Amino acid sequence: MYIDSHCHLNHERNADGDSPADIIARAKEAGVEGMVNISTEIRGDFPAVLSTAQAHENVWCTVGTHPHDASIEAEKAVSLQEIIELAGSDENIIGIGESGLDYYYNHSDKEDQVASFRKHIQACIETGLPLVVHARDADEDILRIIREEGGAKAGLTGVMHCFSSTRVLAEGALEEGFYISFSGIVTFKKSNELQEIAKAIPQDKLLIETDAPFLAPEPLRGKINEPAYVSHTGRFLSNLLNLDEETLITISKNNFFSLFKKAKETYVQN
Ligand SMILES: [Zn+2]
Repeated sequence: MYIDSHCHLNHERNADGDSPADIIARAKEAGVEGMVNISTEIRGDFPAVLSTAQAHENVWCTVGTHPHDASIEAEKAVSLQEIIELAGSDENIIGIGESGLDYYYNHSDKEDQVASFRKHIQACIETGLPLVVHARDADEDILRIIREEGGAKAGLTGVMHCFSSTRVLAEGALEEGFYISFSGIVTFKKSNELQEIAKAIPQDKLLIETDAPFLAPEPLRGKINEPAYVSHTGRFLSNLLNLDEETLITISKNNFFSLFKKAKETYVQN
């Protein structure tokens, strides 16, 4: 069964009156056996994100601040030490992020984004947890900063989530030991370049996600997304890669557990 490696169960954009428990129940009914609930602000949504993970079997979470909220994090003076301590505070916290750079929206100052990204990378190196990276229109800086902070040589590992960047970033991230995660974007009609990248990356580096409530895959594009829909992206990818769906599920699940090692400790096979 599928594991959705990236979703936001506590996000305000989920449908009104739809609780995380409702969304999780629909996902499990649709054959999604696990999911990672991604934090977007350490002193914002993180406590709720964690308690959702604690309350449900095979729902894990991350701790971190999205680049959109990097300036808020700077104002609140969140320290590296705080991230490290939180990351180790619960068995359900299996990664750090999402963090990165978004120069498309620039909702936060570039300097704050860079400082926050560096802090998250350092927390990963310190804790051994994988980094969940958000990259938009910032390919060069993403790679440069990962390398300046030590990259794979320093023991850093992680995933380029909701991959929609260039081949250069995909190749650089692979060199640094990162996984590449595909969302509903890969199913969109104009995503030819992205589909070529999906075909070219080593299959043992491939992950799958919804990024719900955003980016519902075809044929549900435009709807509020949820983890139950991950199979649409899965079937699309299996066709694209000439694999049967079961094989794709097994590959992506094995990859998930080799990256998010801490998830194995609480995983319950049903
Ligand atoms: Zn996200």
